[in-house]
Amino acid sequence: MDKHLEILRRHWGYADFRGIQRDIIESVAAGRDTLGLMPTGGGKSITFQVPALAMEGLCIVVTPLIALMKDQVAGLLRRGIRAAALHSGMRHDELIHTLDTCVFGGYKFLYVSPERLGSDLFRTKISRTRVGLVCVDEAHCISQWGYDFRPSYTQIAQLRQILPQGVPVLALTATATPEVVDDIQRQLAFRAPCVFRQSFRRENLVYVRRRADGIEAELVRILNATSGSAIVYVRNRQATTTIANLLVHNRITATAYHAGLLPSVRDERQRLWIADGVRVMVATNAFGMGIDKPDVRLVVHVDAPDSPEAYFQEAGRAGRDGKRAWAVLLYEPNGEQVLARRTADTYPKEEKIKAVYDHICYFYQMAMGDGLNVTHLFDIDKFCRAFGHFPTLVENAIRILALAGYFRYDESSDNLSRLRFMAPRSAFYNIGDDPITDRVLSALMRIYGGLFADFVNIDENAIAKAANLTPDEVYETLSALRLRHLVDYVPRRTKPLLTFAQKRVPADKIVLPPSAYAERRDQHRRRVEAMLGYMRNQVVCNSQYLLHYFGETHSAPCERCEVCRPRHAQTIDEATHTRVANHVVETLRQNGPQYPNRLAPLGEDFDKFLAVMKTLHRNEVVALTDDGRYTLSHPNAATAPTTNSLGQG
Ligand code: ADP
Ligand code: MG
Repeated sequence: MDKHLEILRRHWGYADFRGIQRDIIESVAAGRDTLGLMPTGGGKSITFQVPALAMEGLCIVVTPLIALMKDQVAGLLRRGIRAAALHSGMRHDELIHTLDTCVFGGYKFLYVSPERLGSDLFRTKISRTRVGLVCVDEAHCISQWGYDFRPSYTQIAQLRQILPQGVPVLALTATATPEVVDDIQRQLAFRAPCVFRQSFRRENLVYVRRRADGIEAELVRILNATSGSAIVYVRNRQATTTIANLLVHNRITATAYHAGLLPSVRDERQRLWIADGVRVMVATNAFGMGIDKPDVRLVVHVDAPDSPEAYFQEAGRAGRDGKRAWAVLLYEPNGEQVLARRTADTYPKEEKIKAVYDHICYFYQMAMGDGLNVTHLFDIDKFCRAFGHFPTLVENAIRILALAGYFRYDESSDNLSRLRFMAPRSAFYNIGDDPITDRVLSALMRIYGGLFADFVNIDENAIAKAANLTPDEVYETLSALRLRHLVDYVPRRTKPLLTFAQKRVPADKIVLPPSAYAERRDQHRRRVEAMLGYMRNQVVCNSQYLLHYFGETHSAPCERCEVCRPRHAQTIDEATHTRVANHVVETLRQNGPQYPNRLAPLGEDFDKFLAVMKTLHRNEVVALTDDGRYTLSHPNAATAPTTNSLGQG
């Protein structure tokens, strides 16, 4: 038995590798930079954990989400594997201790958020550490052309420079178009291209689209017609509450989730949903990454996301357990127009962006030429009230200004709450307070040590559990104690940090380079168009359409979506088929790729036409192009096909 299989069996107890796990592992073990493409739930973690255990040295794992890190570290520790995470909630001495342990070879895995990579402390310590492997999870975040670009990911390339030549990099992702696949390898400075690809196809997941006049009634109908855990994605924070209330009103248990909630509230609702305490999580796209609930049966999108990537990623959270699951895209008749406008909202006009810049300078009373490296907690609601802006516009403008180098914008709220006691021990014994305060204080002292000496990271949820209170009660009690100067309490930050990365300049001197603005806007528009194509498509199986977008041109139809199984199946006689097929082939031959509505012969019943198109696509007479049009698969074939032998829709 080879050593990798032995490690898998010894530490995980799995019988064998799945899919392309072995290929990736052998490639990494041979020292090659490797990119692994596997669907969600495919088992990506094993592909770096197993080879790292077989080699000397530390495995550095870059991953964007703190929650994910903690789960993975806990999982490794349970298996008796030494692992740690670096995150921004740690005290300086904790950071140093963790990194020193790495230098001495005390850990096998170190999880870091990409923001950490740039710090001098990290770079100094890592340059003294023996590193065997660097793994980049969610690697699509490194690509400007990906839908989820994170500027901090670009520091990973610099990490390579402080490591000895020959330390391989393993990049992993479940969402990458062919363009992004190339870009990841370029950005990570792969020494030679090396990609292992497993189809993103999810056999058990059925993609369905539903256009409905009354979205709310339709949503209730869908939930009543199905059973099991569900996620409903909505576009804005307010809608999470309205829709959750609507469901509850219809006797469907539901809760709401968005990034504006207190972290403790978010955590509690997430836990409740994971434990099946409520059936439906109604959320913005802030919910879901890193959540490993295997038995989600249904993901409904009310309104389309901006890109097939986002849709695929979010829909893919259904059915991780391999059992039948549904992904439903639900939209109103004007849904296409709404989506078509989204590029203009996400990439506001240059004048608007410059106005936001000026207003932020006024807001902080920043004089011309001042401001370099000044940081503020940015209260976006207050700012919008002061200047009459919409929050989405402001956020998008700031994001573009950050890419253009004028601001740094840190939206992560991954730090922990901190607390220390300000009064002597005796002050807490005869505090003579209500029972809630007593319970909070005694829980604090039971769980944490050193509170009288220095700040300690605390977790309001853990205290709430120990004191049998809600996280909100704990938060309010601690805030009250702070007002009385008994404790110094710094709750987890929920507002973003805005830093001036340059001195203030006059707005008309602001330059937005194409890489920060125009190119990204055009990319965004292309993705929106691909998503519109998904909404409009009537010929190709939904699953095939999405996989085609990710470069998989030969997947099989799912046989379950509304394209594969239309409500009114058409029976087509041979003569009609021949007539329509000849018309389509001739039109394509003469005029090149076309959208389906340009291909229907005059006067032909459209449903019948579609049925013929489906057969032509299945028989590979016509093929989908990248932009949702149709073209001849074999442009030089002599005659038009006359058979409709492969089923009729
Ligand atoms: P991904 O990161 O690709 O979404 P994970 O690494 O979280 O997926 O793995 C998904 C699940 O599959 C986990 O529960 C994991 O333990 C399990 N798994 C991974 N590899 C195997 C294997 N070879 N045999 C059985 N189960 C596996
Ligand atoms: Mg994973």
